[in-house]
Amino acid sequence: MCPKSIAERQDSATSPVREDAVSGRSRAGGLDVGELLRRHRGENYDLHAQHVNPKFAKVLRILGFDHCYERAEGAYLWDAAGNRYLDCIGGHASVNTGRNHPVVKQALIDFLATDYPSLVQFDAPLLAGVLAAELKKRVGNDLDYVFFTNSGTESIEAAIKFAKCATRRSSIVYADHAFHGLTSGSLSINGEESFREGFGPLLPGCSRVPFNDLEALEQALSRKEVAAFVVEPIQGKGVNLPAPGYLERAAALCRKYGSLFVADEVQTGVGRTGTFLALEQEGDVQPDIVALSKSLSGGYVPVGAVLTRKSIWSRVFSSLDRAIVHSSTFHQGSLAMIAGLATLHVLDGEDLMGNAARMGGLLREGLEELLPRFEFMHEVRQRGLMIGIQLGEPKSLGLRATWSLINKADRNLFPQAVVIPLMDDHRILTQVAGHNLPVIKLVPPLVIDEGDVQ
Ligand code: PMP
Repeated sequence: MCPKSIAERQDSATSPVREDAVSGRSRAGGLDVGELLRRHRGENYDLHAQHVNPKFAKVLRILGFDHCYERAEGAYLWDAAGNRYLDCIGGHASVNTGRNHPVVKQALIDFLATDYPSLVQFDAPLLAGVLAAELKKRVGNDLDYVFFTNSGTESIEAAIKFAKCATRRSSIVYADHAFHGLTSGSLSINGEESFREGFGPLLPGCSRVPFNDLEALEQALSRKEVAAFVVEPIQGKGVNLPAPGYLERAAALCRKYGSLFVADEVQTGVGRTGTFLALEQEGDVQPDIVALSKSLSGGYVPVGAVLTRKSIWSRVFSSLDRAIVHSSTFHQGSLAMIAGLATLHVLDGEDLMGNAARMGGLLREGLEELLPRFEFMHEVRQRGLMIGIQLGEPKSLGLRATWSLINKADRNLFPQAVVIPLMDDHRILTQVAGHNLPVIKLVPPLVIDEGDVQ
């Protein structure tokens, strides 16, 4: 059962679950969703421990993150007792429009009501064409065709395959601390060794360079065996920002040595950093391939997209025989396309990119004001609403001893000692930004306001 939070014991608010939305609506013989939710209320962690992932259920219980959320709206989650939480994890940056956005929700409901076909497979689905055209308008850069996927890692898998096929080269270069997903191809270019343990051998010929190191990149590319350099414009693990000019010069080096420049905007894209792509803030960077996913889903329907140049695309899909040489059953499903279109509609209509820039700036200012007060806080890194708070060794002797003691036990402990009270005392969901990195990360939905920032 879900534990009672301190706040829950203090105020016994009634359940926020929207039973009115489902009760009595199910057709005779249909699945009664309201009844199902009521019958299993509070069983979240027990069911997970029994049937899904006992280890993760245990981790959440240890950290005190084992709340049972029953309602979500915008940047907030509510537990069964009606306690409200500010969600700065944002579904790992997959709910830029805010959770259960009424416009996205209505578009999906309206679409379902049409009984429009999906997954015909041997047709050219209308909505894929419409969404592809909308994405091209926003991404530009002479990227001519859009391949739809179902997730971030699938977008990267497609990018790897396209790059290898288009260049007839086999190796991929990636950055230290990179995260591109956990299927075998993406895992081969993961910058964190511990993710790979036990899953090898993976793709041969992948090599790692330090992020922001152009010399190392040039050395790797100069062998002229590299199909692509795959890079996140801002690294999700650690919220590492590119040095000024790094991405522009990296793309130029790729061109010089015949490698493709692949921008993994799975996390940074769809407005997160205040522009549709994070690359737009990096000068004249001309990517050959751009990978998207996460928030294109509207937080509802898994979807991803890979935008490529015609020259690349036509080497992959090079003949009628090869017209669907890369594909998958659920890619470009109609409901996913509607989720994407509704997301773009909300992003523009509510100026969420402008809000991300404004609220991100306010958050950085406020956090930077704290720097002189807290020796453990070293730096605030921010682009739009992608924020990393770097912790580190304090200056004063007494505090240094505490820092090294905690760090010696476990490098993840210190940032958890901030993340846990943020949850317990303030009901704010945050996360540690990566393995062994003392960085706290904030990627809230782009709908937050000044009150949330405060
Ligand atoms: N690329 C980046 C930059 C990501 O942040 C992620 C997910 N955190 C992925 C790829 C993989 O996406 P998914 O979890 O949808 O496979």
